[in-house]
Amino acid sequence: MQDHARRIRLRRMIYQVIRKTKTPLRLSDIIDKLATLFRNDKYLVETLLPELVSSEWESIFGSNLVKNTYTALRYMVLREFTTGIRRRMLEMGGWVLERLLGSGDGGYRGASIGCECGGTARFVGYREKAIRTALGGMKVWRAYYHCSVCGRGRIPQDERWDVVGTKFSPGGRRLMNRMGGKESFREGREDLQEVAGIEVGTKAVERMAEAVGEAIRGVEEERGERIWSGKVGPCCAPAAEKIVYIAVDGTGVPVVGRETEGHPGKGEDGRVRPRG
Ligand SMILES: [Zn+2]
Repeated sequence: MQDHARRIRLRRMIYQVIRKTKTPLRLSDIIDKLATLFRNDKYLVETLLPELVSSEWESIFGSNLVKNTYTALRYMVLREFTTGIRRRMLEMGGWVLERLLGSGDGGYRGASIGCECGGTARFVGYREKAIRTALGGMKVWRAYYHCSVCGRGRIPQDERWDVVGTKFSPGGRRLMNRMGGKESFREGREDLQEVAGIEVGTKAVERMAEAVGEAIRGVEEERGERIWSGKVGPCCAPAAEKIVYIAVDGTGVPVVGRETEGHPGKGEDGRVRPRG
């Protein structure tokens, strides 16, 4: 059973334990009741805590299954309550933020504003937008302007909040980029949910990382052209260093499966490992 499915099953068991008891429960009471259920049903341990019956686990924590089950349950119950409370707090914060963001004029700047083309963009009405932030998803209304000269729309509030052409807030985007750039997109998505409580699809992480990669490449290429054309001078002081060392570290590049198609790998099965 996948870790996610195990968590949902355990969450349901915790809920049933709480529901069956009429009096307030301490966390240790919940763990005790769950431990009794696990003690009486070997199948539960094998399904929900399979690592406890592995030889690897036994070599580290010993073979006392009752004690190990209790330790594992304590960890899992605490994890469920911690993440549950955090989720509720984030939801509350998101609720407050949504009202704060929606309390203004939606970026209304009068009947018309200037357009980049030099024409005039006229106020059309208010448009709704769903934004994903570090506090969860929320909806905001913004004033929409349209320029009849170039046919483009302008939303001053999106420009002010740096969310033009994206439904992710700057903070949400930064988190996605940090996690999507360090590991596989799937792991990035899982970490986003675990660490920041942001639920997005793997594709969204991939798209965001690629968009930032493109932007970085643009800056690097522009810098490279300046270097090759001799337009880059000493960066700091006139007495710049006479010797400059350049080091290149190219031991491994994280890649996704479809990028290795047609390339033989070093593994016994001839496949390229995700981190070749
Ligand atoms: Zn225009």
